Amino acid sequence: MAAETPMPDRAIVPRSDRHQVVVVGSGFGGLFGTKALRRSDVDITMIAKTTHHLFQPLLYQVATGILSEGEIAPPTREVLASQKNAQVLLGEVTGIDLAARTVTSHVLGRELVTPYDS
Ligand SMILES: Cc1cc2nc3c(=O)[nH]c(=O)nc-3n(C[C@H](O)[C@H](O)[C@H](O)COP(=O)(O)OP(=O)(O)OC[C@H]3O[C@@H](n4cnc5c(N)ncnc54)[C@H](O)[C@@H]3O)c2cc1C
Repeated sequence: MAAETPMPDRAIVPRSDRHQVVVVGSGFGGLFGTKALRRSDVDITMIAKTTHHLFQPLLYQVATGILSEGEIAPPTREVLASQKNAQVLLGEVTGIDLAARTVTSHVLGRELVTPYDS
């Protein structure tokens, strides 16, 4: 008999009255997109599966020992710390429901459903 997989805890992120933007990933696209919205009347939730932004063009300098890993991978929360309308969630996006306008992510066995407008 196959063992049953336990259902993960599920939580729905409450939304505010403001326009909600969900950004997936903390790469160049995600990070610069989020920063570009710093003065906009929106709330931004970045969901990223790593805690840091990886500056890929300098990877070869790490490979050749010129830079350390930390020098090309600053923590995303630190980079966005002064941006009041942005929060960073650590999680892996597993689904986007275009009709319901929600992004589902997974972290530590917990399922998080984040509503979005954009
Ligand atoms: C060695 C190297 C050197 C490069 N040099 C240059 C250069 O000199 N000039 C140049 O213009 N470009 C360069 N590039 C290319 C450049 O780095 C990429 O074009 C750029 O990083 C793409 O940005 P992105 O945001 O689209 O994707 P990425 O930077 O790949 O970011 C994607 C992000 O999404 C996250 N993610 C992915 N899936 C999920 C998920 N399901 N849930 C949550 N998060 C997720 C990832 O963890 C990552 O943080 C280089 C790339 C490499 C590898």
